[in-house]
Amino acid sequence: MSKQIAIDGPAGAGKSTIARRVAKNLGFIYVDTGAMYRAMALFMKKEGIGADETEKIVEKCKAADITIKHENGEQMVFLNGENVNGLIRTQEVGNMASAISVIGYVREKLVELQQKLAETTDVVMDGRDIGTVVLPNAECKVYLTASSKVRADRRFKELTEKGMECDIDVIEKEIIERDYRDMHRDISPLKQADDAVLVDSSDMTIDEVVDKIITLYKG
Ligand code: C5P
Repeated sequence: MSKQIAIDGPAGAGKSTIARRVAKNLGFIYVDTGAMYRAMALFMKKEGIGADETEKIVEKCKAADITIKHENGEQMVFLNGENVNGLIRTQEVGNMASAISVIGYVREKLVELQQKLAETTDVVMDGRDIGTVVLPNAECKVYLTASSKVRADRRFKELTEKGMECDIDVIEKEIIERDYRDMHRDISPLKQADDAVLVDSSDMTIDEVVDKIITLYKG
């Protein structure tokens, strides 16, 4: 049986930074499931399909071949053969990903891919429904959160470091909207699994959170 650590939580809680470090420390593969929803969102944008065109999204979804490869521990997402890692990290694609991720068909397709990955490899997987739906039997589940202010600050820094212009108030507003949608959708809403441990990273350093998760995993 492969080993599984599931990390769920709202946007900007630090899931990817933390999950990547935990994976490196334990020699596991880090799987960023948000990147798969983002790749699907990018595909729909490229096809000129709007977030509210559910029927078209369901139909077009079949033509999106999303695959994952790992190079030097970094996850690369391929959309129909093209490495789209550099194209999916914008706020716009994140919002579109949240909008299309309410569609059951999109989720089924991506959840299947995620479960296959975890069957054969030891993984630290992050997302919104990992502990509740994708890996319900994971031996370690964490619900990682932080205040919306702290999360907006982090996203702002991440985007400005990449040279993208952005407004902190707009980011916080979009984060709150995205969380609301993720937590209130009918299918696989974001919520803490019954057996997940809540970690609030608002006043913790990255190292402290990483240590906490490794300690939880090692029990
Ligand atoms: O984590 P990230 O911000 O990259 O995710 C983008 C969006 O994809 C989220 O806001 C969420 O709506 C969706 N998502 C999801 N289930 C996951 C991972 C991401 O619904 N497991």
